[in-house]
Amino acid sequence: MEGRTPGLVCGHHHLYSALARGMPAPPEQPTDFLSILEQVWWRLDVALDLEMLHWSAMLGAVEALRCGTTAIIDHHESPNAIEGSLSVIADACAAVGVRVVCAYGVTDRHGADGARRGLAENERFIRAGGRGMVGIHAAFTCGDDTLSQAAGLAQDLGVGVHVHVAEGRVDTFAGERLEPLAADDWLLVHCVHLDRDLPGTIAHNPRSNMNNAVGYARPAARPNPVVLGTDGIGADMLEEFRLAYVAHRADDVSASPDTAWSWLEQGYAFVPEARDDVVVWNYDHADSPWHVAFTPGMRALGVTRGDGEVLLRDGLPTRVDLDEVVAKSAEQARRLFALL
Ligand SMILES: [Zn+2]
Repeated sequence: MEGRTPGLVCGHHHLYSALARGMPAPPEQPTDFLSILEQVWWRLDVALDLEMLHWSAMLGAVEALRCGTTAIIDHHESPNAIEGSLSVIADACAAVGVRVVCAYGVTDRHGADGARRGLAENERFIRAGGRGMVGIHAAFTCGDDTLSQAAGLAQDLGVGVHVHVAEGRVDTFAGERLEPLAADDWLLVHCVHLDRDLPGTIAHNPRSNMNNAVGYARPAARPNPVVLGTDGIGADMLEEFRLAYVAHRADDVSASPDTAWSWLEQGYAFVPEARDDVVVWNYDHADSPWHVAFTPGMRALGVTRGDGEVLLRDGLPTRVDLDEVVAKSAEQARRLFALL
């Protein structure tokens, strides 16, 4: 019983969040999207240093590979460890053999200097030959100057912008503010409360949207190309496909899994080489949307990169030691939790 697919693409990830599982409970119970950011993610990201980030990205990359995901479009923030952070992520993914498109999420949450350093990290990484986009956290945490500087830098570098857009109601004005800047090569993440169409590809993250109770994004109703992302909750893209299908179906009983499957495949527009990777699954019909939609728990047995290198054998990574990655990550998670 074996089926095959190309390598899968995670269209929106946060590798820095791999250590967050089991973190201490926030001081206050979050009651909406903004308080989830304040109580959970913005406490975590300020505590990160480059060593934690290295093992977080190693763990995230190994987990991706074990799910047949050979390419990740990552969005990163570590306000107290900005310089060099994108290289740490890129190096960790390269060590495992997973492709990554990096971006540093620029924001004015940490003042003008924080925004400047975020922009500089995007520029440094991409000018040095790194594969990346210019990241913006979200319009609601940036002034107009920072938004236009990030858009201008992306244009200068010949890359798109990777930005969270109208994820919660707090960012409803994103459409109006980004409309003069957005372009076809932008990656617009979430777009749940977006009040108009913008140019670019939409990254749909069904599990994360449910988890944050922000609502259903209705990506099928948009004219944009759509990719699927996990928003940092692992990189099991067949699982995300199943959730994308069933969320679509919950909204429209005539929905077919072919639509969510087309979102999965749209990731190749960003990382075309992943199509040449071969994933072998423990299930015959791994390339059939109607089969996969109703088959939870499929496992990747092997991954062979387009150039012939075997990256995963019998479900285990070949380039790194799984037990070591798990042990070191657990050690770094303990260090991180002690700071929260
Ligand atoms: Zn995100």
